[in-house]
Amino acid sequence: MKILLRFDDITPYMDQDKWARAHGIVQKYDIKPILGVVPDCRDENLNMVCPADGLDGNNEADLTAKFFADMRELEAEGYTIAQHGTTHIYETDSSGLLHINSFSEFAGLEYDVQLDKLKRGRDILVNHGLNPVLFMAPGHTFDLNTLRALKELGFNAVTDALTAFPYVREGILHIPCRLAGYDRIKGIDTICLHPNMMEEEDFAELENFISSHREEFISYDYDSQIKLAHDYSVADRITEARTILARNARNKIANSKRIAWYMSYTNAESTAKKWAKRLICMPLLLTNKYRDTTNE
Ligand SMILES: [Zn+2]
Repeated sequence: MKILLRFDDITPYMDQDKWARAHGIVQKYDIKPILGVVPDCRDENLNMVCPADGLDGNNEADLTAKFFADMRELEAEGYTIAQHGTTHIYETDSSGLLHINSFSEFAGLEYDVQLDKLKRGRDILVNHGLNPVLFMAPGHTFDLNTLRALKELGFNAVTDALTAFPYVREGILHIPCRLAGYDRIKGIDTICLHPNMMEEEDFAELENFISSHREEFISYDYDSQIKLAHDYSVADRITEARTILARNARNKIANSKRIAWYMSYTNAESTAKKWAKRLICMPLLLTNKYRDTTNE
């Protein structure tokens, strides 16, 4: 098992304190993650620092300049700067090639439109002295036109695939990011974290996990990861479809009040006891004869 780590939604207006916490943890364990930088962030949901709030005495230009200086320094230290979209505004309801979400900044748009948009974003990063060759699609949504445009612009990889090992599609390396959280699964996977959204327990969970799995962490490295890759095949298509079906089923279960009630009602300290309770109480799940305590 090899694990990469990616931090999404890295912008000048991200939550600086939370980013500092997350960064501190990877520094402590000498891990060089992938940073998904939004070149021209227009997504208000990602603005955790309000420009009108005085920015701790900085003006907007200073804050942006400082941010990109920090990113250059981290890139020089071995962190991978990925282009995380261009504006991070979802323009279509396409679910792209992976069907993880049905919104996209790129998928569904004409090739030329995608090429222009991607180029504008890449140029912003390049003009700030960064060298993005890895692409991180907002919402994990991209289509074949996105891949072709990325290839045209000199990108060599995307940090998304729902398979156990990397594959190459349209000349672009796809590094698995199976959205399995901290579950250990075979092959290669990327843990995807959003520092803006992290709470106290998330930082603790990250540090706990890293401290016990440090030797499994690797950084993005095209030359070594392309050696593990194969050409995209029908088998990959089936694996990805199965992964999405399982994920949707898990989400449905997580969102179902009846199942939530059943899972808590049948919880027990020992695994054997828990499963025995679950079997015995199974009929309750199939009928409406249960007490919905979730509304109380
Ligand atoms: Zn994002």
